[in-house]
Amino acid sequence: MRTFDQFLEKARELTDIRSALSVLAWDQETKMPPKAAGHRARQRATLAAIYHRKLVSREVYELLESLEQESLDEFEASSVRELRREHAKADRVPTELVQEITEVGSLAYERWVEARERSDYGIFEPWLARMMELKSREADYLQTVETRYEALLDEYEPGMSEQSLDEIFGEVRPQLTNLLRRIEESAVSKTIRPIRGDFPFKRQENLGREVLTRIGFDWDAGRLDRSPHPFCVGLSPLDVRITTRYNVNDFTGSLFGMIHEAGHALYEQGLDSARYGYPACDSVSLGIHESQSRLWENQIGRSASFWKYWFPRLPQFFPKALSNLTLDEFLLSVNQVRASLIRVEADEVTYGLHIIMRYELEKALFSGNVSTKDLPSCWNDTMDEYLGVRPANDRDGILQDTHWSQGLIGYFPTYLLGNLYAAQFLVAARKALPDLDAQIEAGTFSSLREWLREQIHRYGRQYPASELVQRVTGEPLRARYFLEYLEEKYCKLYQI
Ligand code: MG
Repeated sequence: MRTFDQFLEKARELTDIRSALSVLAWDQETKMPPKAAGHRARQRATLAAIYHRKLVSREVYELLESLEQESLDEFEASSVRELRREHAKADRVPTELVQEITEVGSLAYERWVEARERSDYGIFEPWLARMMELKSREADYLQTVETRYEALLDEYEPGMSEQSLDEIFGEVRPQLTNLLRRIEESAVSKTIRPIRGDFPFKRQENLGREVLTRIGFDWDAGRLDRSPHPFCVGLSPLDVRITTRYNVNDFTGSLFGMIHEAGHALYEQGLDSARYGYPACDSVSLGIHESQSRLWENQIGRSASFWKYWFPRLPQFFPKALSNLTLDEFLLSVNQVRASLIRVEADEVTYGLHIIMRYELEKALFSGNVSTKDLPSCWNDTMDEYLGVRPANDRDGILQDTHWSQGLIGYFPTYLLGNLYAAQFLVAARKALPDLDAQIEAGTFSSLREWLREQIHRYGRQYPASELVQRVTGEPLRARYFLEYLEEKYCKLYQI
């Protein structure tokens, strides 16, 4: 027996445990009765501890050591590299610290929920300070990269440097601000009518299922359910679950949400199912994952080509509503740009500004340049500076996102990276598929989906994100493709 096969047996056990943990998490968000919460927390903690013990075991360590000698193919070698990375990280941070972060995370989350309900940051502040202190210690243990912030960033976007982010975001920010100002001053922006009507949720679901089937979601290897916060979870490439939520007065939120999650799902379903259990059979980074959801949701789903096909079909789903809207009015409505307070409701143009300010603030917080006490006023000043709007209360400002309460520092940048990767990938896709727009106008998406599968999905973690982008597009990640996409689309839409 090859050493690699012994290694694979261990790796598969780890994958199975992780997958079981994900089933428990999915169930908790979609089906679990509320009284089960306490027992479920125990069940998850038990499995997580078993996972951790197996990961840092002597056996795994020795297998990793002896694999240095064995000749491996590229996918095997990258699987060894990935598990070695995870093993080293888990080994470096003391188990007690990991447990403390998890515990404080769930307590801080509860305080955050309460603080948000009462719009009172003071309730949450001591817990955020505690979490920052713990994450700071974690970064000290992890530090193998240039900066302490990068040690945390590495968890979500392996290999990305703080310096690259500074450069890319530094280029993006002034251009977004400029485009926003021009759109806000345009005559067209004053004419936009919101979509309001009566859209029974079952009909919204039918529309969503039809669109998802068209873009290639495999219903025999996935499900759609409802949950308060939409998400996608891959239990294996043959079992990928997505969720959505419905607003009966506006169907577009649930539809774009479903397309977004289906973009994530196509990535998970596109991994090589024959390699289930290989550590490299997994998504490469959160930024690349988000690129797949943003590409489908925004670049395809909010495009004129897409709606040329779908708009005339809307009356099949909603016979009474929408009869007073033209296609052009509808397109403007689903691409309305305006400075607003809430990140998750932001449009494609302002979204990046919400992210860049969080990136700047979490770095300042983490490095001690801003204290948790001063954070709300810094938040409000930055919001004012970047977007020209100022929250009137904590709920619509500093307390709107849950990430920091759970110790997710270095996570926000991946959302904007997703937009940048998506734009650069789609430029490459268009070169390979010159009639792509004509296909989309005809309601056909298979060649784009297959291109993404061939170029990106099937590789899993075989290449790090930076190398993958270079291979697919012939260049490193550049902001210009995203900026050019926005400029072209929005100048046309708003006639500026
Ligand atoms: Mg997403």
